[in-house]
Amino acid sequence: MRFTTDGLIIKEQQVGENDRLVTVLCRDKGIIKAFASGAMRLKGKNTGTSLLSYSSLSLYKSRDTYKINEATVIDLFFSLRSDIEKLTLAQYFCELCLCFAPEEDNAEDFLRVVLNSLSFLEKDKRPMLLIKAVMEMKMGALAGYMPDLEACSKSGKMDGAMFFEPTHGVIYCESCQPPGQLLFLSEGVLAALRHIIYSPLGQLFQFHLPEEGLRVLSEVTEIYVKTHSGYHFKTLEFYHSLFDDQSVETGEEQK
Ligand SMILES: [Zn+2]
Repeated sequence: MRFTTDGLIIKEQQVGENDRLVTVLCRDKGIIKAFASGAMRLKGKNTGTSLLSYSSLSLYKSRDTYKINEATVIDLFFSLRSDIEKLTLAQYFCELCLCFAPEEDNAEDFLRVVLNSLSFLEKDKRPMLLIKAVMEMKMGALAGYMPDLEACSKSGKMDGAMFFEPTHGVIYCESCQPPGQLLFLSEGVLAALRHIIYSPLGQLFQFHLPEEGLRVLSEVTEIYVKTHSGYHFKTLEFYHSLFDDQSVETGEEQK
């Protein structure tokens, strides 16, 4: 069976000397694994199947195996590749797709969110921590991990700062908060979380928070994603090892 679709290459593995097995997040088929043969490379058509390429793919399916016949690049997100912080985050976004996007099912919304994230990251259109928080929270929510952020789950109080309980994805006001590990959400951080969860996809990235708020938001969304996926994100660990240490060093230098 032959068909065409567009998709983002979210993982690549070398198979033997010349062939590669790539994992693709396709618009209408979700996550699939497909072989890109060495012959494609000889013809100079290789770029469309490299990591982080968004391509129009001509595929052939035989039994359970997909083979890429042709890949035409739509966007390479080229300038992401020369910035180690952006590249590491982009690879983490690929890992989030691997963790949350469906297999062999329509993944239009997942693809839209990750492509917008990569584009905003590449062009510095939004702060990196904002994009990271959107990717984490929205990918989780699209996969069904939908928190209830409308009101205190006990009293129904809706305004003011709240406390987030990530395991059940609920919030409590100050008077109702139970004992245990809760994450404090200022009004600003809560508004940002609500925006990510409840706004239409076309407005997903349209919110602002000061830097300190973004840092808290990013911590909360990271805890939420880790809690619900049970997944060990190697790229996230690498990101923290690179950039958390760096900020500590910078802090020490300033003393
Ligand atoms: Zn309450």
